[in-house]
Amino acid sequence: MIDVFTAPSPLTPALTERWGSEESWTLKAALEAGAYTGLRKAESMQPSEITEFVKSSGIRGRGGAGFPTGMKWSFLPPDDGQPRYLVVNADESEPGTCKDIPLIMADPHLLIEGIAIASKAINCKHAFVYLRGEVVHVYRRLLEAVAEATESGLLGDLRITAHAGAGAYICGEETALLDSLEGRRGHPRLKPPFPAVAGLYQRPTVVNNVETIADVALVFRHHDGWYPTMGTEKSKGCGLFSVSGHVKNPGQFEAPFGVTMRELLEYAGGVRDGHRLKFFTPGGSSTPLFTEEDLDVPLDYEAVAAAGSMLGTRALMVFDETTSVVRTILKWTEFYQHESCGKCTPCREGTYWLKQVMLRLEAGKGRQGDIDLLDEIANNIFGRSFCALGDAAATPIKSAIKHFRDEFEAGLTTPAWELFPYEKSTNF
Ligand code: NAD
Ligand code: SF4
Repeated sequence: MIDVFTAPSPLTPALTERWGSEESWTLKAALEAGAYTGLRKAESMQPSEITEFVKSSGIRGRGGAGFPTGMKWSFLPPDDGQPRYLVVNADESEPGTCKDIPLIMADPHLLIEGIAIASKAINCKHAFVYLRGEVVHVYRRLLEAVAEATESGLLGDLRITAHAGAGAYICGEETALLDSLEGRRGHPRLKPPFPAVAGLYQRPTVVNNVETIADVALVFRHHDGWYPTMGTEKSKGCGLFSVSGHVKNPGQFEAPFGVTMRELLEYAGGVRDGHRLKFFTPGGSSTPLFTEEDLDVPLDYEAVAAAGSMLGTRALMVFDETTSVVRTILKWTEFYQHESCGKCTPCREGTYWLKQVMLRLEAGKGRQGDIDLLDEIANNIFGRSFCALGDAAATPIKSAIKHFRDEFEAGLTTPAWELFPYEKSTNF
């Protein structure tokens, strides 16, 4: 595995521009490279002008959903003088997704500058960063960078609190995250009301992903109109694409939206020697699978949706022909079953039953009708669960049956480890 901090980003190095430079995370190095010039520009603008500027840049939510960022900010009700909050979602946990963590490690001041600009736009005096709990080294780096920026006076009266979660995938769902931040067990809330209206402590709150907020800092540092020169008509700008799995050089590749998987595979050195692509995920384990036929689909929100999947978090996990689809899907199903918060029945019970059927199929002990049963359980979860985790658990199963039904049928008689021996494979 190559070092993600020095991964090549030959297409549009903007977010990753400083990833390889010496002590890039210190305030001194960041200032020398032009950090906080975007904040100075924003400070000369009215809050509504900042929001309009973000709208015109075309930045969309980089946590996966792609919701227009400026529009989300403008959903906040008029300022009544009471607290309003910005919460940065750094609980990056989607399998295959590893973009926000290296971004914070390499360039925390890009995030902090974006936080200060977004806070000014919504008149927030206290912002939070909710970070996944397992990455203690990232938490330390963020604490140090926040302290440096605060003590230097760059942030004015803005207070930033970095909070480490306790390792639950569901706390990446924005309302479960808010519950967790308030000190309760992280359970998704009913929407509407959206956080924009009733969020942290029931006050108007903007919840944005790390990369989204870093993008905000970038557009203010550059000249007007710079960001939309990249990308496609509706998916403007550039982003981080995480390529992992059976490739020679896995890592982060920064590219304009609309780049294809064929191009990214080239930057990642191609599929490992002597092997060929079997399938890949465009946006993590929650998105329908893509195969060789989809290598030329432009990776933007619209084109990926038109091809039957979702761009999601741009976690491109690559699997070659040694991979057992049944085993891979079983691993993801075990993950979703373990991470289900248990609040609603279709997801809590359904993920358990999906796992039981998948275990039989992996062991070559599937029963007649098991494939239809999987499909039926998945249909009873999809669209009937309280939050997106249920849909996420059902999606890869339905997609895998569609593309690789023969492997599921083989699971009625033959164990996956006989068809795809472990020693030949490096499955996840
Ligand atoms: P969503 O489409 O429901 O909402 C997107 C954002 O827009 C939210 O912040 C929501 O509050 C806001 N929004 C939508 N409609 C609104 C309205 N009418 N008024 C005010 N605000 C509104 O998506 P979601 O459930 O928040 O997120 C799903 C995505 O999360 C998936 O696409 C998936 O890729 C991604 N995901 C990411 C990770 C990760 O590790 N980054 C993990 C799991 C899932
Ligand atoms: Fe919890 Fe799953 Fe229901 Fe979401 S879908 S509320 S994770 S049980």
